[in-house]
Amino acid sequence: MYGLTPADLDLQRRARELSDELIGFERTAEENDGRLPDEVAKSHHERAIELGLYATNMPESVGGPGCSSLQQVLVQEQAGRVTNGLGWCLHTPPAWWPEVANDLQRERWLLPTVRGEMQECYAITEEGAGSDVADLTATARREGAEYVLDGVKWHVTSFDEADYVFFQAVLTSGQHAGDQALFVVDKDAPGVRVVRTPMYTHTLGHAHPIVAFEGVRVPEAHLVGTEEDGMSFVYEWFRFERLMVAARCLGAAERLVDEATAFAGDRVVGGEPLIRKQLVQAMLADSLTELFAARTMTYETARSIDAGTDKKVLHAQCSMAKLYASEMAGRVVDRVVQIFGGRGYMRENVAERFYRELRVERIWEGASEVQRLIIADQLAKRGRSALV
Ligand SMILES: Cc1cc2nc3c(=O)[nH]c(=O)nc-3n(C[C@H](O)[C@H](O)[C@H](O)COP(=O)(O)OP(=O)(O)OC[C@H]3O[C@@H](n4cnc5c(N)ncnc54)[C@H](O)[C@@H]3O)c2cc1C
Repeated sequence: MYGLTPADLDLQRRARELSDELIGFERTAEENDGRLPDEVAKSHHERAIELGLYATNMPESVGGPGCSSLQQVLVQEQAGRVTNGLGWCLHTPPAWWPEVANDLQRERWLLPTVRGEMQECYAITEEGAGSDVADLTATARREGAEYVLDGVKWHVTSFDEADYVFFQAVLTSGQHAGDQALFVVDKDAPGVRVVRTPMYTHTLGHAHPIVAFEGVRVPEAHLVGTEEDGMSFVYEWFRFERLMVAARCLGAAERLVDEATAFAGDRVVGGEPLIRKQLVQAMLADSLTELFAARTMTYETARSIDAGTDKKVLHAQCSMAKLYASEMAGRVVDRVVQIFGGRGYMRENVAERFYRELRVERIWEGASEVQRLIIADQLAKRGRSALV
């Protein structure tokens, strides 16, 4: 189905094997603020590497498996079947880095990250700049052979787990003053400080603290690419991650449809199983149909990337996939909570956990409204036939 090759199917099978294993740990995670014992989390990390599912987006030149975009989607789809972020052990480092990493960045951070020995996190969003990422106020001031970084970043996901941070800031001097640039910063660099760690809707082992960067000095070799590259890495990241959000939403919706179908087959109300009730059938049928549509769209977008489609077109296609799949998953989980009834409101139930966890898929990596603006902008500029 979906024209997958034997290699695609083999990768998908391995990813499913791991996601099935991870599902067995969801309730323990939920009951322990999202955390699993260190040795268990470590074993999941090692399983991902052993099964060839780690850093699937990394080319062979840096030690990665060099998977196609479609294969990356297949793996992330399986990650999405699991709640509590346990699927995050199928980690993907930034896809744009291998091409532009200098020797220092390659040896010190990139290669160990691809091997699974280090982990990164992203400090882009600020209190007053999220959707409007162009309005960042964090600064990078050049002083001799160093940059001095200042700014307060919000929602820095996995800062607690990470070894280093990508920090986006506005250059204050030189030919590119006023433009943005991206820096690598060691988490324990002097001047990096957690302001506070707010609680969020989902129950994840990973925190999203607010982090202050106060006069943090980094050598110029910590600049990613050149000062001219501006926001290109951020946009590249958005394209990649929006597609992966779509993929994970497919996995979540698939799991929810499977669980709800099984439950509706077992639960007898008024002498017959719920699945015989037409109002329940309608909820299942709509969910399955929308999953099929979202999956077809997401796979097609991945194939479009693999075929080398123009980046601006891909930008709109990734936005369409993210918009549709995340909203689809939101509708599916709402129906599935309803099908489970009171059980669907219990935190030990997968539908309840997904009900909370899937909400952010319509917010992060660009809210649904922002995706619609991108799609409409590209439609106006390029016309329908270029995009669809
Ligand atoms: C759990 C979590 C983890 C995150 N992890 C990271 C991370 O690791 N690193 C990082 O840098 N950031 C991270 N973020 C930040 C995330 O990317 C932003 O929250 C997101 O981009 C939206 O920005 P904002 O929260 O500032 O919302 P705002 O920009 O304040 O927007 C609020 C709402 O306004 C609406 N809106 C915004 N712009 C428009 C418009 N032009 N037209 C119409 N409506 C509009 C949308 O509905 C939007 O949801 C994370 C966020 C969350 C919740």
